[in-house]
Amino acid sequence: MKIIRDDLVGFKGYHVDDIDAIKLDANESPFPLPDEVHEKFLSWCRDHNAYNRYPDTDCNELKAELAKNYHLNVDQFIIGVGSDQIIDFTLRLCIKPGEKVMFPNPSFSMYKLSTKLNHGQPIEFALDDSFQYNANKIIEFMNKVNPKVLILCSPNNPTGTTFSEEDFITIMESVKCLVIMDEAYGEFMNFSAIRYTNKYKNLLVLRTFSKGFGLAGIRVGYGVAHEELINDIEKAKPPYNLSTLSEQLASILLRKKQFIDNNVAEIISERNQLYEKIKDIRGLKVIESKANFLFVITKDYDLHGYLKEHGLLIKTIDNIKGYYRITIGTKDENEVLLKKLMELGGGMDDTTKLCGTRNQ
Ligand SMILES: *Cc1c(COP(=O)(O)O)cnc(C)c1O
Repeated sequence: MKIIRDDLVGFKGYHVDDIDAIKLDANESPFPLPDEVHEKFLSWCRDHNAYNRYPDTDCNELKAELAKNYHLNVDQFIIGVGSDQIIDFTLRLCIKPGEKVMFPNPSFSMYKLSTKLNHGQPIEFALDDSFQYNANKIIEFMNKVNPKVLILCSPNNPTGTTFSEEDFITIMESVKCLVIMDEAYGEFMNFSAIRYTNKYKNLLVLRTFSKGFGLAGIRVGYGVAHEELINDIEKAKPPYNLSTLSEQLASILLRKKQFIDNNVAEIISERNQLYEKIKDIRGLKVIESKANFLFVITKDYDLHGYLKEHGLLIKTIDNIKGYYRITIGTKDENEVLLKKLMELGGGMDDTTKLCGTRNQ
């Protein structure tokens, strides 16, 4: 007897490389927790001894911090074990078998995974030749497809390209379905759709503590929407999803947000410098990014294999040869990366050739 659903037999789950290397593959922050925040958290742990109790299922403390931060109502937030989890239970709530979920390609692989697991039909739309969104084309396509949910990712993973405020409004004014605006990298750009959550009742904006905030290890994400929509999505949220420890650490960090603002500014500055330098390397094409990573295209080299041999791990893009995503690291890490990329572009020596870095 077949145990799993027929339609998932050939299905590949989410996998990551696990090697000892400079990690530029997962868009994590390269910075550890600031000492002051770490101390506050440890001292909270010493004073708190109620782990025999379930966490606060509504995450009231964290919601209160978020509400203060955005000057919104606490009822406009929902908390997930990473924003991945919010995508999953929102789709579970909205999609009947076979209904369509539309999202860009290339984009975050979890959209397709979550759609399939929740019995939906994934429909991808292409970005334009320079990997930008085109709002009018999206609307045109949507009128044909009639999706139940539209997912937009801005800045888009893996391209780093964004939706402008004007394009965002154009979309919101012409579609009726649920629009999920995934702003996992929102800290690295200046426009956020969050300020429109009171205006558009079909808008859900997703944010995470995993990227700019540097808390990928504790798995906290949040959704922001009109309180009527949040109220509905709450119905699908697993109870007690977030652990007491995760809620506490995220809340403490939010009260000390100035540390994060500094880290984000440093990453942006490193990103812009790296972009300028990689742009000039022969054989590599790089897209201007508003996130903490760069999208690099090369038909000439196996960039992933070459960098792995030199102790750097970057991300390949599923099924698309020649596309790579490189996370911005610390200054030192970026220097190592750049040195290796320049050796690649500045005419390869015989040893690299022997290592088989050339693709053809
Ligand atoms: C990393 C990422 C997320 C979510 O990460 P979590 O760790 O689950 O919060 C969501 N969307 C995109 C586009 C991402 O890159």
